[in-house]
Amino acid sequence: MGMLILVGLVYAAGHVVSLKIWPYARCGRCDGTGRNSGSTARRWGTCSRCKGSGKRLRLGARRVYGGKS
Ligand SMILES: [Zn+2]
Repeated sequence: MGMLILVGLVYAAGHVVSLKIWPYARCGRCDGTGRNSGSTARRWGTCSRCKGSGKRLRLGARRVYGGKS
């Protein structure tokens, strides 16, 4: 049981470190292209989720940076 907690702590620490190094993940909606490939021509354009950057802040990254974006 104690070992399980230790593994969990190591995993959490590693996750926080990885968030510090690379807080962004590839946008899932546009697959990192920054383009919204909608079904119609009207919807086609800049991805609304990542604003065309192709990146999105990873879950927990905002907390790592103290709430400042
Ligand atoms: Zn996107």
